[in-house]
Amino acid sequence: MPVKNNLQNIYTNIEKEALVCQRSPDDIKLIAVSKKQPIEKIQQALAAGHRIFGENRVQEAQEHWSDIKPNISDLELHLIGPLQTNKVKDAVALFDVIQSLDREKLAKALAKEIIDQNAKLSCFIQVNTGQEPQKSGIEISQLKDFYIYCSEELKLNIKGLMCLPPLSEPAAIHFAFLNKCAKELDLKDLSMGMSSDFKLAIPLGATYLRIGTAVFGQRQN
Ligand SMILES: *Cc1c(COP(=O)(O)O)cnc(C)c1O
Repeated sequence: MPVKNNLQNIYTNIEKEALVCQRSPDDIKLIAVSKKQPIEKIQQALAAGHRIFGENRVQEAQEHWSDIKPNISDLELHLIGPLQTNKVKDAVALFDVIQSLDREKLAKALAKEIIDQNAKLSCFIQVNTGQEPQKSGIEISQLKDFYIYCSEELKLNIKGLMCLPPLSEPAAIHFAFLNKCAKELDLKDLSMGMSSDFKLAIPLGATYLRIGTAVFGQRQN
């Protein structure tokens, strides 16, 4: 299916699910995840009017977006993959939202760079809800202290929480848990739900869905 039709299908599904659980569809944003996708497909999504995109590597995001971004004022780019501190400068220059904030060293580097570049950047704290040793994300037990550190001490603009559930477990458990964490911290935004499970994420409070293959088709390697 052409990208335009895929987007339309997903918008329709979001509306349907929102209606069922009495949420406003406007509160649920679709991040089209364009990692490992050809530039033609990105152009198709832009031509269809889509403006919110996600990438998981800084360098690939620069290749995709550096030329396009200055020409589209309402474009919103989210970094959804791990960020190394040596890439923070480039990330702050390109992205509007960093969703993978998960450690003090990164938080500090971001805060400094945001001031240096006078950037308007917001962040999501990524939470390792599955407690997987190899996965990014702050430990559940450290979330509250880390949130306070980021927002009060470093004055970072923390919009919400993000999670990437373990493949081996039902995603809904993790979505519900992330929702509970966000309520406890009085945070409104929840980034959760991907191509295979975004419909589950909507009744559980998702405000940002990160959808790749269902928008663009299979990724290139
Ligand atoms: C690739 C990726 C997605 C999108 O995955 P799809 O299954 O293609 O929708 C979402 N979130 C993160 C963090 C990703 O890396």
